[in-house]
Parts: sequence; structure tokens; C-alpha cells
Amino acid sequence: EAKTSGRGRAMVYQESMHSMVQRRLRVVSELGSAIRSSELRLVYQPIVDLASGRTVAVEALVRWHHPHRGLIMPDDFIPVAEDSGLVVDLGYWVAEAAIKQVSEWQSLLDDDDFRVYLNVSPVELRRPGLSEYLRDNLERFGVPTNRLALEISETALMSQDVAGLLALKGIEELGVSLEIDDFGTGYSSIAYLRQLPVDTVKVDRSLITEVTDDPRQRVFVGAVLQLIHSVGCRAVVEGVEEREQAEVLFDLGCERAQGFYFGRPMSPEAMTSRLALQARLARGPDGGR
Ligand code: C2E
Ligand code: MG
Ligand code: MG
Ligand code: MG
Repeated sequence: EAKTSGRGRAMVYQESMHSMVQRRLRVVSELGSAIRSSELRLVYQPIVDLASGRTVAVEALVRWHHPHRGLIMPDDFIPVAEDSGLVVDLGYWVAEAAIKQVSEWQSLLDDDDFRVYLNVSPVELRRPGLSEYLRDNLERFGVPTNRLALEISETALMSQDVAGLLALKGIEELGVSLEIDDFGTGYSSIAYLRQLPVDTVKVDRSLITEVTDDPRQRVFVGAVLQLIHSVGCRAVVEGVEEREQAEVLFDLGCERAQGFYFGRPMSPEAMTSRLALQARLARGPDGGR
């Protein structure tokens, strides 16, 4: 009968709070050791040029292979990592792994503009030293700075304080470019967009779900793309799952897309094969000589 009493409900509530807190504490302590003991992996998803179909960039996405719980997706640990500050160490691990990977891809990359995009959380930006860390690792692995780019979500970007904005400036000066991620989910003013050192804007997938069936959504996405172009940025649309969506987006003037239709996030080995095939095709049967 304790369950139906007010005190019982409070106990149930306290218990679920308690287990939530415990779960978070467990994730924090396990993630700390996961970063040190290489339970993290990066997968890479292609970003394609809609006119040529070529893979012109890739996004690195982190995965956690837990020894008992198996594969854990970023949405289940990044928020906890952000709250606990662990995301700073995680970000360092991701940056080093991705830069090392690019150094191995160098010979396959004909296009000077090819970039690897990393996701950066606002917590990482507020810590001093991110641009130095990136510079040191780029130097260590002999990777040109223009191969690397950072993705920062629209919400995170708009909430930056002076320190965060200075960090962005430092990253830009290093030669690493910046992209706004998940555009359309937060609130940006056009004026702000123009002041920031960004060169690419990634439209969130929630904006294009009905783009093939809903004429109003098509008009809306067209306007968003125009806005992005009007401030001199390049547009990428994420979450493209069907050929028809890609066609509509191309007609609307979108230059780049990312999504399951063009390729799921894949292992470094699978991405190496994809890039190698592309390089072979580009160089032709005689190897381009
Ligand atoms: P995001 O940066 O917006 O990444 C895109 C997410 O959409 C990825 O989920 C990707 O697998 C998924 N996606 C791509 N194409 C499609 C599609 O066609 N349909 C659908 N339904 N989904 C698609 P993922 O890998 O689970 O990552 C989720 C989020 O976790 C990322 O969103 C990013 O915010 C964060 N994240 C991932 N890796 C890192 C990291 O290394 N550091 C930080 N700070 N955050 C990361
Ligand atoms: Mg992203
Ligand atoms: Mg995104
Ligand atoms: Mg997103």
C-alpha cells in the first residue's frame, strides 16, 4: 500500500532519480577508462558533391565499443561527457585519431579541398588550447591544416561567450575551417551568421524529411539554401536517405549532401577502399599519366 501513498510515490521518484544519477556516474567512470584503453573508434561518413557524386569530404563520428554492453552510440554518452567535462579528453582523442587517419589517406586525396570534419562540443571550445593541440597533431602527422574542419552545432555556436568566439578565431587563423552543424534546429540571426568565421552550413535532416512530397517544405528549404548562399557559405544537407530527395535538393541549388543514400558511417578500412576506388577512377586506366 506504500505505493499509492504520497510517501510511496516520493520514494519511487527518489529511486528513479537515484538510478539515473548512478547510471550517469557509471558512464562517467567507464568513459574515462574507455578513452584511455582504446574502446573508442571512429567511423567515417561520406559527404558528396551532388553534381559529380564524388566524395568530397568525410565526417568522423565516434563509437564506443563497451566490453560488456557492446556498441554504444554517441547520443547515449556525449551529453554525459559534456556535463562531466570528459568531452575535452574525448575530443582530444577524436582529433588525434582523425588526423592520423588523414595522414594515411593523403596519397588517395587528389582534391586539395577534401576535408575531414570533426564534431566539437561547446565545452571543448571554452577550454584554452584546442587550436594548439590541433596544430601540434597536424604537424606531428604531416597533415596540412586545410584538411581539417570543425563542426559546431548552431545552438552551441549561438551560445558562445567571448572566450569561445576567440577560440573560433584562433582555429580559423590556424587554417582549419568551421562549419555550422544542425542548422535550422536553433535560432540564428542572419547578422550573426555573417560575422562568424564559418564557410559551410549543414542543414539539419529534420528540415528535409518531406522535401519530395510537401511543396511548402521544398519552398522553405530553397529559402534556407538561398540564405546560406547569401552570406557566402556553402550548403550541405544531412539525412538524405532517398534518391528523390537528392534530386530535389540539387534542383534547389544545394551543392553537397550527406546521408544513408550516399553511404552510412563506415569503418576506416571501408572508407579507404571507397577513396582508393575513387582515386583510381579519377586517374584513369593509365594511372593519369
Ligand atoms: P551530427 O554531427 O549531426 O551527426 C549526424 C548524425 O546523423 C550521425 O549520428 C549520423 O550517423 C546520422 N545520420 C547520417 N546520415 C543519416 C541519414 O540519412 N538518416 C539518419 N536517420 N541519420 C543519419 P551519430 O553518429 O549517432 O551521431 C550523433 C551525434 O553525436 C552527432 O550528430 C554529433 O552531434 C555527436 N557526435 C558524434 N561524434 C562526436 C564526436 O566525436 N564528438 C562530439 N563532441 N560529438 C559527436
Ligand atoms: Mg556533425
Ligand atoms: Mg548534424
Ligand atoms: Mg544532426
